[in-house]
Amino acid sequence: MDAFVITVGDELLLGQVLDTNSRFIAGRLTGAGMEVVETRSIPDRAGSIESALDDALPRAGVVIVTGGLGPTRDDMTRRALAGYFHSRLVEDASALAWVEEVLGQRGAEMNERNREQALVPEGCRVLRNRLGTAPGMWFERDGKVVVALPGVPFEMECLMDREVLPALRAWSPGVMLDYRVVKVYGVAESALASRLDDFEDCLPVTMSLAYLPSPGLVRLRLTARGEGVGLLDGWLERLTGALSGAWFTVGEDSGMALELGALLSRAGESLSVAESCTGGGLAREITLAPGASAYFKGGVVAYSDEVKATLLGVPREVIARDGAVSEAVVAGMAEGVRRLLGTTYAAATSGIAGPGGGSPGKPVGTVWIAVTGPRGTVAREFHFPFTRERNAARAAMKALEMLIVAAREVTG
Ligand code: AMP
Ligand code: MG
Repeated sequence: MDAFVITVGDELLLGQVLDTNSRFIAGRLTGAGMEVVETRSIPDRAGSIESALDDALPRAGVVIVTGGLGPTRDDMTRRALAGYFHSRLVEDASALAWVEEVLGQRGAEMNERNREQALVPEGCRVLRNRLGTAPGMWFERDGKVVVALPGVPFEMECLMDREVLPALRAWSPGVMLDYRVVKVYGVAESALASRLDDFEDCLPVTMSLAYLPSPGLVRLRLTARGEGVGLLDGWLERLTGALSGAWFTVGEDSGMALELGALLSRAGESLSVAESCTGGGLAREITLAPGASAYFKGGVVAYSDEVKATLLGVPREVIARDGAVSEAVVAGMAEGVRRLLGTTYAAATSGIAGPGGGSPGKPVGTVWIAVTGPRGTVAREFHFPFTRERNAARAAMKALEMLIVAAREVTG
């Protein structure tokens, strides 16, 4: 089933409010197996609502409209819909009872404006809004569905999940679209595309592969339509097979920090970090994983030589001899923080993130990373070609990779 999303509100076109409703609704409809063919933002004008519906209805079986259902004069979606469907506005008894209930919870009295919220186009089905006074509305015409929802994001989201999606699932004929996400780390988009050439050549027409790059990471989306939906997991397996040897995780919510967390939790092991060039970015990545408190003890942002020496116990002579960005110093930082916090593993970073601070021997982008654990210490040197922020982000991801390698060696 194809779907069309219309968001109504002058504020969206003035750049005053970001249209987050489209993203939420498109995500939910896609998750329910529908294909969103267009999202469109339009002003609070009856004519715009009518012409958007004229465009949407021939192209989609489901049209979701949000916004413009408030009690004030600037909100005109309800009247526009009544006009569009040639129906008059009538008071709906259950809508009135729900408005009373919501007002009661807020300790507010019913006034004329609130009462008008229970006026809906005759013949529509009223959808209960548990969090506000504007009810949702469900229209069925010529085998198509038009749903109108309030614009307030949390009200709309609750209505989508509790009312609209269950009703759409009951109404629409099965899944038409599904997708899987694989996150690939540290491979440039073009290199990844060459590597997946053969895989893409074999893909059936019901399946497509999209690349969504962001710093340090490319999200691959494998999408199946129609008859391809049943084959999706088989093709996901072929895709991950084609990626073997690269660093990747499967699922939109997956990530390297989660992977590491699972390894450490399973083994009852712990982790600490000592960070120079990543400035806390590694600890940030680690703590983004829910449940990190089970294994992550903490870290030291050892930015100055002073802190590397006094807090982490890196010998001053070593810092003077090799420089702060060196194998011996980064290994000493990792061992120092492991000792200090008493953890199974520790990682440390020290590098020249840029734009200044480079030298012929140690150009900008030089980063040393060390990981230490029960099997000893490993330190590696990297040269990243990016800007300061991206160099630091890549260093944090590389440290996670090295930690995963170390934790896998021991726990298998
Ligand atoms: P309305 O239902 O038009 O009265 O919308 C109420 C409030 O919801 C507006 O003031 C906006 O802040 C917010 N809103 C409306 N439409 C959207 C949208 N598409 N995305 C995010 N917020 C919205
Ligand atoms: Mg509005």
